[in-house]
Amino acid sequence: MLKINEIYHSIQGESTSAGRPCVFVRLTYCNLRCTYCDTEYAFYEGKDMSIQQVIDEVEKYNCKLVEITGGEPLVQMEECLDLMKNLCDLGYEVMVETGGSLSIKDIDPRVKIIMDLKCPTSGMEKKNLYQNLIFLKLNDELKFVIGNREDYDWTIEIVKKYNLVGKCIILFSAVFGELEPVQLIKWILEDKLDVRFQLQMHKYIWHPETKGV
Ligand code: SF4
Repeated sequence: MLKINEIYHSIQGESTSAGRPCVFVRLTYCNLRCTYCDTEYAFYEGKDMSIQQVIDEVEKYNCKLVEITGGEPLVQMEECLDLMKNLCDLGYEVMVETGGSLSIKDIDPRVKIIMDLKCPTSGMEKKNLYQNLIFLKLNDELKFVIGNREDYDWTIEIVKKYNLVGKCIILFSAVFGELEPVQLIKWILEDKLDVRFQLQMHKYIWHPETKGV
């Protein structure tokens, strides 16, 4: 059984798939407590569903892109891995969004991993599992959510230290309400970085606290 917080149909708000219709399967629980978390409602709330029940719900939307998210979906590791494998077997394009503190090594290689390494202002930097970086594939995406200049400088160091350019897609995102997107873009251009800036599009389309979008 999986504990599921919500399943809904919207557009992808982030990543290189931003703008595409997508079914989101949000799993309950998270092992982190980021300072800027916008999904605290997923820490405990949810209902038990079997993998087949989740798939039946996903199928209702007739949409081939599915994102498994949270909370931290890998807290329910075994069932989450099975769900992703089953969805891939059914021909779905599957993405998983994970906070980078739990191992990604057993994720089905057909799944696109969006991994969020935690910057210092998240308060969760020490939880980053850097061994995960060796499992990222060329089309996986590594996201840094940057809250200030300290986070930005830290991110640059990590990108250099682990030689990340060319290893996967690198996304730079600003903490909503903390760092002005235009400031982050300015830094990226000044430093001539080969990274991709992204906005959390859904927070501009809907009210930032709207759930299920
Ligand atoms: S990993 Fe995501 S869900 Fe968990 S506390 Fe951080 S922002 Fe919230």
